[in-house]
Parts: sequence; C-alpha cells; structure tokens
Amino acid sequence: MNTMRTYNFSAGPAVLPVPVLEEVQRDLVSLPGIGMSVLEVSHRSKIFKEVLHHATDNMRALADIPENYKILFLQGGASLQFLMVPMNLLLVNKTADYIHTGAWAQKAIKEAKRVGKIHIAATTADDNFSRIPDMSELILTPEAAYVHITSNNTIEGTQWQSLPEISEVPLISDASSDIFSRPIDVTRHGLIYAGAQKNLGPAGVTVVIIREDLLARSLDSIPSMLNYKVHASSQSLYNTPPTFGIYVIGLTIKWLQSLGGLKVIASINKRKAEKLYAEIDRTDFYYGLATKSDRSLMNITFRLPNETLEQQFDKEATVAGLHGLKGHRSLGGIRASIYNAFPEAGIDTLVDFMQEFERKNG
Ligand code: PMP
Repeated sequence: MNTMRTYNFSAGPAVLPVPVLEEVQRDLVSLPGIGMSVLEVSHRSKIFKEVLHHATDNMRALADIPENYKILFLQGGASLQFLMVPMNLLLVNKTADYIHTGAWAQKAIKEAKRVGKIHIAATTADDNFSRIPDMSELILTPEAAYVHITSNNTIEGTQWQSLPEISEVPLISDASSDIFSRPIDVTRHGLIYAGAQKNLGPAGVTVVIIREDLLARSLDSIPSMLNYKVHASSQSLYNTPPTFGIYVIGLTIKWLQSLGGLKVIASINKRKAEKLYAEIDRTDFYYGLATKSDRSLMNITFRLPNETLEQQFDKEATVAGLHGLKGHRSLGGIRASIYNAFPEAGIDTLVDFMQEFERKNG
C-alpha cells in the first residue's frame, strides 16, 4: 500500500497535522491502558469525559478563553450555527446586524432572515467580495442584538485583519476557516463558531465559544438540540456528542501548543502565505482576487489568463502531487487553502510548479 502523502490544498475537510494522524493511528485500536478504542467508549464514561475535559481545558489555555465563556462541541456544521445564532440570540423586537463579505456570510444571512429582523450593516458585493469593508462603511443599528462577521471568507480569499469596533453589542464571528490560525481576542466576542474540518479536526464537530451571559437569551421554547443553554448546562453531553471528532480536536490543540501556541502558528502562517502571494505578485501571468490589504492567510485565490489555462494548471498540478487547487465552483480560478497543518514544503513545491507552468505557458 502506498501511504505517501500528497500536498493537499483542499478547502475542507482539509489537511491535518501528521503527528495527530499518527497518534490517532497508533491509539485507534486501544487507548493506552484502556483496552478500548476511542471509537468504542461510552460518551458518559470517565475515559471520554477526560478526553472532553482535556480538549476544553487545552483550548481554553491555547486561545486565552476566559472562564466566563463556555466551549461547546456541537453537530450540524457551521451551517447549523447560521440558524442557531439568531434563534438563540436575536431577541424579539431587536435587529441583528450582518456584515456581508461573501458566499458564507450570504448563507448566514439567509438563515437569520427566517428567524427575525436583519440589517446588512455593510456589503462588498459591488466589488465581488474582493475586500473587507472599511470601518467607515459600516452602518450599525444602535442596540442591535448582535453584529455578525465572517472572519475569513473561505471562497473569496479575504480575511478581517482586525476586529470591527462595535461598542457593547456582542460580536459574533464565523471563524470556520481561520480559527486558531492566529491569536484571537475572545473577550471582544459574544460568540465564535467554527466547523472543525479545516483547522481543528475531522468533519462532524462544530466548536462554539459563547459568553455565559448570552445563554440567558436562549428561551425554553427553543428545541433542545438547537438551544445553547441546554448544551452548555450539560457540558456538550445533552446527547451523544461527536466523540471521535472531539478526541482529534484535543490532539490538534495539543499539537498547536507543542509548536508554541497561536503567536508562533500565526508567524508560520504569515510566512507561508507571503511566499505564495509574492509569487502571484511577481508576474502578470497570475493575479490575486483579493484586495492586498484584506488578503487571507488561509485561502489564497488567484486566476490565470484564461479558464483553459486554469483547468490545465489544476490538472497538471494534480499529476505533480498538488491536490485540491481548483477554485470554488462559484468563482472559478485557483484556490490554495493552506491551513495550520499545511506544510511549508508544499508551498515551496507549488511556487516551483507555478514558475515552471508560467515558463511553459506564459
Ligand atoms: N462558514 C465558512 C466560513 C465556511 O468556510 C464553511 C464551510 N466551508 C461554512 C461556514 C459551512 O460549514 P459546514 O460545512 O460545517 O456547515
């Protein structure tokens, strides 16, 4: 069996750290000293509760998450959070502000509209979502229920470089594609959510970090599985949680800690992304889709002179061991997703490939 790894630029599910995969593999049949697989133990067992507590405590330490924030492990993906956020936090007679920066923000807005009154505080639709709005463009509702942003726009390749200034209104951030890729000031958020399958672990778990006082907004009439208060009061054990995913998240957090934490991973991510952007900017053959000051360090989007060349690029890259570079179907072009676990050597290989491709086709 050939188990050699290729360079995986997939937007998600995405590359995981090799030491994490190796630990999963080593301990899959039996957790050390336990005699059972993590896939087999009861979610009510002491063993699993330890797994859960380790993942929670280490995440709290890694990202400086204060004690007045609950960490929840839920299901239904970030897409279910598009609905749970307004269901729980959008009080009757209030308005929620959404900053519309791309396709995933659009989906969040669509679900929120089913629940209550939404105001689009800013949109960059006129610029094809190639940028993040300026603070001066935001028209915020005084005393809004919350303000929702998408901290990294996975499809378009833009990222908020700093959080918007929004006074006392709770900030809600969809951090699915950049969670723990850099330090995050949790205290400036009311709630942060992220599907795990890009920067944290396998698909099937969603992390929600919620400020405790906001739990009071969850009405008892909200169905239990959609109710933050229910999940928070049962420490994510209201029903059977995605046990394996939580285990892998715990290992990924430990791996991040072993590297030196979020400041260290942020500087590695910056270096990786800058190498690729430098190559895009070096020549007119490639051009980046995102405004330079708003460029994502996680999803790097660019185009070639025409679609035929883009298809050829993706095809030849795959043969060369560079997988998943095709841009999102809604946008076309090329997208290199280079999350925390993506190795720097893969960036160097891609840059070499780009230079060779241009030499042959430019
Ligand atoms: N938000 C963002 C920013 C995403 O990138 C994605 C997935 N690509 C989602 C939400 C949806 O996540 P899920 O598939 O977990 O529902």
